[in-house]
Amino acid sequence: MNNQYDITVIGSGPGGYVSAIRASQLGYKVAIVEKYNTLGGTCTNVGCIPAKALLDSSEHYHQAQEQFKVHGINLDNLSLDFTQFIKRKSEVVRQNTSGLIYLMKKNKIDVYQGTGSFIDQTQIKVSTADQETMLTSKYFIIATGSKPSSIPGVIIDKKRIITSTESLSFSSRPESMIIIGGGVIGVELASVYARIGTRVTIIEYTESLIPTMDRELGKTLFKTLSKLNINILLKSKVQSATNTGSSATVNFINDEAKEQELTADYCLVAVGRRAYTDGLNLGAVGIETEKSGKIKVNEQLQTIVPNIYAIGDVIDGPMLAHKAEDEGTFVAEVIDGQKPHINYKLIPGVVYTWPEVASSGATEEELKAKGVEYTVGKFPYSASARARASMDTDGFVKVLVSPKYGEVLGVHIIGPRAADVIAQAVVGMEYEITARDMYHISYAHPTYSEALKDAYLQAAGQGAINI
Ligand code: FAD
Ligand code: NAD
Repeated sequence: MNNQYDITVIGSGPGGYVSAIRASQLGYKVAIVEKYNTLGGTCTNVGCIPAKALLDSSEHYHQAQEQFKVHGINLDNLSLDFTQFIKRKSEVVRQNTSGLIYLMKKNKIDVYQGTGSFIDQTQIKVSTADQETMLTSKYFIIATGSKPSSIPGVIIDKKRIITSTESLSFSSRPESMIIIGGGVIGVELASVYARIGTRVTIIEYTESLIPTMDRELGKTLFKTLSKLNINILLKSKVQSATNTGSSATVNFINDEAKEQELTADYCLVAVGRRAYTDGLNLGAVGIETEKSGKIKVNEQLQTIVPNIYAIGDVIDGPMLAHKAEDEGTFVAEVIDGQKPHINYKLIPGVVYTWPEVASSGATEEELKAKGVEYTVGKFPYSASARARASMDTDGFVKVLVSPKYGEVLGVHIIGPRAADVIAQAVVGMEYEITARDMYHISYAHPTYSEALKDAYLQAAGQGAINI
């Protein structure tokens, strides 16, 4: 390889690999640098993909245990092979990481394994334990992502006090687990382990699960997760977590301001993630990080150094794979002189519990805080023929609509396949289609998406029609 590039991407997560591919498609000579042995970053290796693999496996097991009998399917001696449960997840990750190697080759992107650190504005050093390689580039895209963070009094030792990463690769099924944080990671991993019989407690600081989403979603999720026997403690503040050798003990102040102590096999810390810039040597190019650790960028996602851009979890905004991907495409196109656009208000947020939770646009809380007038259209899945057929009647669709013009301001769903149903709502909001017009398009019957149709109709001032 001659080490001179038009664009060099540092980090191969969904932000990095998408930007590299888009830049290559646009005709640039591209390199990508990744410090780990596999490509794909957090999402592919220890995030979205393995978490979803375990969510699917555990949901199958739970269904087989709890619901198959109702369908007339009898299984004798049902059991879980935990080793195979984890092995399948690892195989799914392997397929995805090898797929990325293929994509890099196909797009003629040079891959450098090692830690990238800046020498100056046009050069980086890629270091491994035994060698250093210098790369020169006209542009750099920093896509170094994030790492789990913790809270005062809780030191992650990766043995008993763990992060999501360790929880995806246990060697045997934990008997019990305390999860600090009832955000996205907390509720997804609580679902995985509760479904296979682990006694799970979630300790959440605020008064709701998934507190950044529309509050009604968190309330319904509380009820559905409680059905899995997950012990959910809200308004509770963790003070400390201690590795006692064979278990972890967590001390916290509960919702009645009383000191409490709980012990479990593991304590999983899921209180958010922090931007990761260690080893980049940003000082060499004069880029400073904000107090939060994030790299500051302008609207073009450009740092204070004009040829250096940053995308994904390492900059402001929701820490989501599709947000990182959108920014990857955006930056490659900006460098190419195009005028791309990202509508940050409509980036969907999805939680892969069952039922799933999906949201896009403004929440009721946000509209109230801004004094924006809105009407609510709501349809419960208990009234959906499709949901009754599949015994997935928990949840609802809620659409928030401006009464003046019929503009859809927000869509919030908790229900079966909400992650897929939300896509149509995003298209509608992006192109400012009114609630009435969203109602007038055809929805296949019976589908989960029909619940949206009725919610749009109600928000437009009419009663529901379908079942
Ligand atoms: P990352 O994916 O973090 O990739 C950064 C890469 O840069 C890493 O591979 C790192 O090794 C590399 N790197 C760092 N520094 C250097 C350096 N100096 N030199 C070379 N390489 C370097 N999001 C969703 O949208 N949907 C989900 O379902 C979802 N599930 C998740 C489940 C879990 C358990 C977790 C932890 C996260 C999940 N996320 C999900 C969030 C998602 O993983 C992140 O938002 C996404 O990976 C961010 O992408 P990125 O490209 O910015 O960074
Ligand atoms: P999060 O911000 O979603 O949730 C953290 C939770 O911890 C919050 O509810 C917060 O109130 C709580 N908390 C904070 N301090 C606490 C304390 N002292 N005691 C008790 N609770 C406390 O963060 P996360 O769940 O760690 O996820 C990290 C990131 O990964 C998120 O930004 C998320 O977007 C991303 N992620 C996304 C998905 C998905 O898209 N499905 C899945 C997993 C992770």
